[in-house]
Amino acid sequence: MSIAPDAYADVVARIARAAQAAGRDPADVTLVAVSKQQPWEAVEPVLAAGQRVFGENRVQDAMARWDGRADGLTLHLIGPLQSNKAKEAVAFFDVIETVDREKLARVLAEEVQRQGRSPRIYVQVNTGEEAQKAGVIPAEADAFIAACRATFGLQPEGLMCIPPADEPAGPHFALLRKIAARNGLAKLSMGMSGDFETAVRFGATSVRVGSAVFGVRS
Ligand SMILES: *Cc1c(COP(=O)(O)O)cnc(C)c1O
Repeated sequence: MSIAPDAYADVVARIARAAQAAGRDPADVTLVAVSKQQPWEAVEPVLAAGQRVFGENRVQDAMARWDGRADGLTLHLIGPLQSNKAKEAVAFFDVIETVDREKLARVLAEEVQRQGRSPRIYVQVNTGEEAQKAGVIPAEADAFIAACRATFGLQPEGLMCIPPADEPAGPHFALLRKIAARNGLAKLSMGMSGDFETAVRFGATSVRVGSAVFGVRS
């Protein structure tokens, strides 16, 4: 870890401290380093320091960056997915965090069948019910998760949310945890640069941290 840039080492240490303070094992919280829109010079030292889990918000950008370098890495798609990119997303990503509608679930399921490759799936929940944000609204989450399982044969492993920027995140994290618990889902992807320690306190199993690791995006 000695060659890690300070910011990366600091985020890793803060996650561990937040976990310990919450009586949790730091090993139960995965750092997804969000490398979207970052220059390679910012990403390379973090990779060299041992980080192996990265998040990208666009299929094409992720493939341009990581294709041919993805060996041993775990790549998460954390941005909205159009159905017409589902084929590439299934082929390329290890985790797709943004499943939020039946059409997308259906196309993903078809690609999983066709390719024989099953990325791990998260359902994105729009906990703040914001018009501009992707995600299923909380009132429809249970039915959508049930449809993923029964209709499409997908087995989501968890839930993902992006709380409203102008509200305390805690209640949104608590809501996501509640929806996950009542649906038998173990994984919670929540928390970004500004609130990942809060997310760990509320039970996040992965945090998606970009700017605090790599610097402000251009
Ligand atoms: C960009 C992004 C992040 C990382 O945001 P930072 O504030 O830079 O940590 C996390 N999650 C999603 C879904 C994002 O699009």
